[in-house]
Amino acid sequence: MNFKDYIRVIPDFPQPGIRFKDITTLINNGEVYRAAIEAIRSEVADMKIDLIAGPEARGFIIGAPLAVSLGVGFVPIRKSGKLPGEVVEASYALEYGKDKLAVHKDAIKPGQRVLIADDLLATGGTIATTIDLIRQLGGEVVGSAFLIELGYLDGRSKLEGIDVFSLIKY
Ligand code: IMP
Repeated sequence: MNFKDYIRVIPDFPQPGIRFKDITTLINNGEVYRAAIEAIRSEVADMKIDLIAGPEARGFIIGAPLAVSLGVGFVPIRKSGKLPGEVVEASYALEYGKDKLAVHKDAIKPGQRVLIADDLLATGGTIATTIDLIRQLGGEVVGSAFLIELGYLDGRSKLEGIDVFSLIKY
């Protein structure tokens, strides 16, 4: 299956010059969505994962079905102010914009093996911050998995020493 055929590229969103990769056209097709999750699952299945962590909001779209498929828990990484319990936080810069991410303090126990999942790897800022949060809690980041990787933004260079898998590359 050529997953790239199901991604819609929208020019000049959310600002001029950005060619936005829209995954809604892929997840709108149940067969293709399931095949994409299954393809990622088979890639990470032997990594001895305890938990999947995914940043809001599109990280949930990839991370949650992946967690269910692997039979492991899911840890939501959320924007500051959204989680009700005690949190740790970290700031980050986006391809366009800036924000703060948070995770519940008790969501990851020291030594647990965590795989990060998101829809798209761009500059790597979001994932670098997610790694920071997981490590603050003593979790071990065993790898990262993405539906899409924008290779030309070289997000991989921010994830040194961490296994990166992406299904679709631009
Ligand atoms: P990064 O922090 O620069 O790697 O940006 C990754 C985050 O920005 C992901 O969580 C994406 O949801 C979002 N993002 C950046 N560019 C795009 C795009 O072209 N399509 C969809 N999401 C994007």
